Amino acid sequence: MPVQFIPGVGPRVAAIYKRLGIETVRDLLWHLPHRYEHEHSERPIGEIGADQVVTARGEVGATRLAGMGRKMRFEANLIDPTGRLHLTWFNSPFLRHKIHPGMTLRVQGKTKKYGSYMQIVNPAWEVIEGQQPVEARSERYRPVYPATEDLSAEQIDRTLQSILDEATALVDDHLPEVYRRERSVPDLATAMRLIHRPADEDDVRCARRRLALDELLLLQLGIALKRRHVKQHTDAVPLNTGGAIDEHIVARFPFALTEFQRAAIEEIRRDLAQSTPMNRLLQGDVGSGKTVVALYAMLAAVATGSQAALMAPTEILAEQHSFTVTDMLKGSRVRIELLTAALTAAERRSILERLRSGVVDLVIGTHALLSRPVEFKRLAVLVIDEQHRFGVHQRAELRLRTEMSGGVTPHTLVMTATPIPRTLSLTLFGDLDVSTIKGLPPGRSPIITRVVTPGKSREVYEYVARRIRENKEQAYIVLPAIDEAGGGGLKDVRSHLKALEEGWFAGLRCAPIHGRLKRDTRERIMHRFRARQIDVLVATTVIEVGVDVPNASIMVVEHAERFGLSQLHQLRGRVGRGSTKSLCVFIGEPTTDDGTARLDAIASTGDGFIIAEKDFEIRGMGEIFGPRQSGSTSLRVADLRTDMALLNMARRDARKWIEDDPTLSRPANALLRRRLMEQYGDGLGIADVG
Ligand code: ADP
Ligand code: MG
Repeated sequence: MPVQFIPGVGPRVAAIYKRLGIETVRDLLWHLPHRYEHEHSERPIGEIGADQVVTARGEVGATRLAGMGRKMRFEANLIDPTGRLHLTWFNSPFLRHKIHPGMTLRVQGKTKKYGSYMQIVNPAWEVIEGQQPVEARSERYRPVYPATEDLSAEQIDRTLQSILDEATALVDDHLPEVYRRERSVPDLATAMRLIHRPADEDDVRCARRRLALDELLLLQLGIALKRRHVKQHTDAVPLNTGGAIDEHIVARFPFALTEFQRAAIEEIRRDLAQSTPMNRLLQGDVGSGKTVVALYAMLAAVATGSQAALMAPTEILAEQHSFTVTDMLKGSRVRIELLTAALTAAERRSILERLRSGVVDLVIGTHALLSRPVEFKRLAVLVIDEQHRFGVHQRAELRLRTEMSGGVTPHTLVMTATPIPRTLSLTLFGDLDVSTIKGLPPGRSPIITRVVTPGKSREVYEYVARRIRENKEQAYIVLPAIDEAGGGGLKDVRSHLKALEEGWFAGLRCAPIHGRLKRDTRERIMHRFRARQIDVLVATTVIEVGVDVPNASIMVVEHAERFGLSQLHQLRGRVGRGSTKSLCVFIGEPTTDDGTARLDAIASTGDGFIIAEKDFEIRGMGEIFGPRQSGSTSLRVADLRTDMALLNMARRDARKWIEDDPTLSRPANALLRRRLMEQYGDGLGIADVG
């Protein structure tokens, strides 16, 4: 039923609900509280003592913003006829747009005696409109809902409470009673009632556990279904990499493989020998040497008469891969082509034609590789490099892979230098096998990392200039924008390049590199940088992934507080690739807690795995998963940072479930199947399973 027909709602309020994504009573039931408050009876301010959790109401007197930078705080006075309470919020300067003198507020928090007056730091607060009677409020554990300016958490609470009993009576449970008992979770209706109307924390915990298990179980069931489906319905070309072929391939590499590279290769060889497609994630820190492992897989395809493709996230990286691979395969019969958006129509047509007829063995490109007209005679191995933003393109890729590869499903190797935190990879990529390259190839010296404020710029650039002049080292200077127009007040490549050339870097050979340069210009610059004819690249984050120039041993990142943690780590990975002691300087001045946490983290470790876990802690999973509409997941209650045990249980249960009823077609599973398809039919591409 549309929320409009709930007594007291009506079309006007329904329109506001719609903006919150709530159209029906069912949506409303799923609008879950984001926190709870112990509701105490309000007390006159004059009666409040120190060190108590209290609720008080009053009128806002003077407000002010005080302090600077990280210490910025917003202060307000709360006044009632009996006294005055001092409120302070740290790190919330935006409150000055929300809390104004004259408003009536209800606040809750712990009091502290501060000089002569009583203070609450970071109180919970809400605006009270009109005359809500004080005594109408009972002592309860009150849910607080995500709200908007036009629709208060209180209003949502009232409406929900008015329909809760009637609505939950209609909720069907998709989990059988036996299973619920086994796992000690309440039925769905009870869980919904408890989450919206708990008596205490225990009720909330109990309800949360059921709802979180639900989400995780559905996701794991989806993954298990898909895994089974893929195993049964796809054919891949089994690739034999027996002794001679193996030796041949390895002989092409200009160095001895590390133990971990060899181990990853063994795992891949085993996968390739099967007629079910390989679906493997190769993770290894920046610079750990993933490229040769991928090249091995591709050459295994070529050696047995099939084709291979390598897809990179940027043109620069595709160009570089093409350069490296061509170099390693010099003198062999392997025919390699580079397919990027920058080709002329005629060049492109020619490559496409030769891919279709099987003349080209190995193609390297960007996402352009996935566009419709690309077809292969027989694509046996597909490598996707540096795909750390999974989920977004995944679906399209999956669909295309089989269509474009000549009837067979290619063995797929996905590489990432942003190691997916353990928890996350389990959940999202339950259908991926994982190989890990630990450590770096021999002969690297660790990178020295420094985080400094802009005030130190002068020292930094003078030092960098000296090292370039005296040791013939090369450097990257990274900026967040290409030109002033895109900079929004930040430093940009164009002006900074000019400033450096006219100042500290006078006489050094500097060049810009960014996404808006023409391909041949870009290639020429990269080529000259590699050949040491350029000393300094002033760049945007286009150099973030994959770029590999061992003599470049210095990096300076401006406005470092603007970049994500994984991104900073990726950037830093551009240096430390040779034997020179590398230096990475992050110049930044964080204005948020997250920004501070990121810079602290990057300074404290060089280990990509630790960084990934920290990044996950700081950002939570929303951003790592990418846009919600990617359909990759929809975890609203479960939090992978804390629900690890539940996740493991869900995983085991899901596997067993699918073993017992491989397509979930038993009548007892009908509702479960329906809910699963509603949620993940599209996202996981399992709509037609069974
Ligand atoms: P990433 O894992 O970041 O993609 P690359 O594959 O680009 O790393 O490798 C980084 C650098 O290490 C390259 O210059 C590569 O030639 C070199 N390299 C890779 N494996 C070895 C090895 N076993 N011994 C020495 N150098 C290696
Ligand atoms: Mg790489």
